[in-house]
Amino acid sequence: MDFANRIGAELRAGATSRPNINPSDTTEVVGEFAQGTASDVADAVAAAREAFPAWSRTSPMERHGILMRAAAEVAARAEELATLLAREEGKTLADARGEVGRAAQILAFFAAEAVRLMGETGPSIRPGVTVEITREPVGVIGIITPWNFPIAIPAWKIAPALAYGNCVVFKPADLVPACAWALVDILIRAGLPAGVLNLVMGPGRSVGEAIVTTRGIDAVTFTGSVATGRGIAAACVASQPMKKVQLEMGGKNPLLVLDDADLDVAVRVALDGAFFQTGQRCTASSRLIVTEGIHDRFVAALTQAMAGLTVGHALDAATRIGPVADAGQLSTDLGYIEKGRAEGAQLVAGGEILNRPTQGHYLSPALFTEATNSMAIAREEIFGPVACVIRVRDYDEGLAVANDTDFGLSAGICTTSLKHATHFRRNAEAGMVMVNLPTAGVDPHVPFGGRKGSSYGPREQGSLAREFYTTVKTGYIG
Ligand code: NAD
Repeated sequence: MDFANRIGAELRAGATSRPNINPSDTTEVVGEFAQGTASDVADAVAAAREAFPAWSRTSPMERHGILMRAAAEVAARAEELATLLAREEGKTLADARGEVGRAAQILAFFAAEAVRLMGETGPSIRPGVTVEITREPVGVIGIITPWNFPIAIPAWKIAPALAYGNCVVFKPADLVPACAWALVDILIRAGLPAGVLNLVMGPGRSVGEAIVTTRGIDAVTFTGSVATGRGIAAACVASQPMKKVQLEMGGKNPLLVLDDADLDVAVRVALDGAFFQTGQRCTASSRLIVTEGIHDRFVAALTQAMAGLTVGHALDAATRIGPVADAGQLSTDLGYIEKGRAEGAQLVAGGEILNRPTQGHYLSPALFTEATNSMAIAREEIFGPVACVIRVRDYDEGLAVANDTDFGLSAGICTTSLKHATHFRRNAEAGMVMVNLPTAGVDPHVPFGGRKGSSYGPREQGSLAREFYTTVKTGYIG
């Protein structure tokens, strides 16, 4: 079956289509998805602009109702959507269930935000004059998402956009359009008027670039790699008129393990943070920074725990680590494993292509020791099941190494010392800090985002999402 783009009231087939391939079994095609063009984007923008005046004036309760109905359908179809997600992206069914549940929670959270939005009034410094501060929708939002969270990231961008009265032109990652298609279909059937939410699938180079450059899009929210994000920000500033822009990008997240850590906790936290979801999380702990006194015990226990991780088909109940998402990412992972070896780090576990009954991109989780923070495997985001251990003398050196990076998304510490945990929370240069918890794994109702090269612009999620999806108006009433 072919899945078409959604432009205004129209289901529009693409001039071409692209097969969505299951990375657990590359002989399986999940579906054929339309490939849009710049002219489809132009039509989607026109439909969104036409819908905007009426949609932006709908009652908050109407928007609340639509988002709640969508949340209920996502929750009711959780098993079916999780299976679809696991088939197109390769994360395990258990992880996919978690992601679908999160998408439902996000829709419900922003349903409530729609009715919670209030302004402020106060006295002017001029006698008899009142000042009023209100928030209005920005207009038409262009949404561009990556492949590693096929339903949660689209949900956490589309839900606030709609809740606050914006229209949307959405382009999911080319690799994973199936969950995106299902989410858009659910939202449209929940009652969105035609043109409020438009879906144009296709490559970044054509459809993505058209979203960034087409006049009529007021703001662009993007999640993906730093290189793409940098270009998008530059194009948004260069466009006429300028577009508001929000970027969520990569990470090289540190997990600092101190001598006084509970070893079992540290190993559990490292195993999850570094390798679960095949290491394909922007919040993955790819740098394990370990103090001398616990280093050898930690490495021994972690490698032992890694040996117990079953790598296999995403839908197999025994699987803990699914396949790498596609052949390109697999070759990137293998390239970094080679580079790590060449740089002098010791590969103490994994890093091998695995054969399984089905033809998938299977790679055993890889751990390097004797890494230094200047090596490419410690500085560049790999985005695969590859982590390195960096040995440090003490907490102070560990904190310095943790902060010595161009990224700043999430940072974790394993310790039983209140003093070090408190100091780390205040001094880690990251948007999110975790104490005795994996660097990955966040709540849907609080802000998400980072510093330095990891994020640009206002935070996503939680009530702070309104900073990007609304614009402030100051009124003076005499
Ligand atoms: P990517 O940058 O290759 O692509 C992201 C999206 O941008 C895709 O939809 C792609 O088609 C589109 N795109 C590509 N080129 C474009 C262009 N020139 N103009 C407009 N759009 C374009 O990233 P990816 O490989 O899909 O995802 C992996 C990256 O996403 C990693 O770096 C990861 O850390 C990051 N990520 C960040 C977060 C976060 O919230 N910080 C969350 C998940 C993933």
